[in-house]
Amino acid sequence: MSLKERIKHVESCIQAACDRSGRKREDVNIVAVTKYVSLELTRSVLDEGIVHIGENRPQNAVPKWEALQGRGVWHFIGHLQSRKVKDVIGRFQYIHSLDRLSLALELEKRAAALDTTILAFLQVNVSGEESKQGITPEEATEFLKETASLTRVKIIGLMTMAPIVDDPEQARPVFRKLRELRDELNAQGLTKEPLTELSMGMSDDFEVAIEEGATWVRLGTLLVGKGEET
Ligand SMILES: *Cc1c(COP(=O)(O)O)cnc(C)c1O
Repeated sequence: MSLKERIKHVESCIQAACDRSGRKREDVNIVAVTKYVSLELTRSVLDEGIVHIGENRPQNAVPKWEALQGRGVWHFIGHLQSRKVKDVIGRFQYIHSLDRLSLALELEKRAAALDTTILAFLQVNVSGEESKQGITPEEATEFLKETASLTRVKIIGLMTMAPIVDDPEQARPVFRKLRELRDELNAQGLTKEPLTELSMGMSDDFEVAIEEGATWVRLGTLLVGKGEET
């Protein structure tokens, strides 16, 4: 499939998931995860009108970002070591993988130094798998209290990764729990503005995630491919 065909296919799946769940298409944003693919393909993705680019390794993302002169809106989606924060701030407008207080503080410090800001999703390990990053749902209240005074890091929602399962239906409870957690946190009024965003759903499970309220889906394999075959 060509990139154009892939985009068309993904679009029709997203529209169908919105129709099934009574949601508006414009409430679902696509992050094209370009971590597996070349600079050229990443450029083609932007040329096709996709604005949001997701990368998970600073060492791969920075050269691409430089070559593309920061075209698009960049989303950091992987585990971020504190010493790599300096590569992310000033280039990425979003981080989906805020998973510890020390990282929030380092982001705040680096963003202040560059007089910029970053929008963040608090990564929650809903499934409880040991291999997954993220705070536990129980820790979320405390985390939001501890980060409430930050002015450079703005937490706009929650992110999770579902377990790898054979049937995407098995991921549904994880997505539903993330939405319920967001609603509970908002009811507690911990943030200046309510958490509106849910970053959940990847190539194998994004349709179920949309049905459960995803406002950002992170699509790599299905949308841009995994190598050079597109
Ligand atoms: C790689 C990655 C994705 C995209 O995965 P696909 O299954 O290829 O769509 C989404 N989110 C995160 C955090 C990733 O690391």
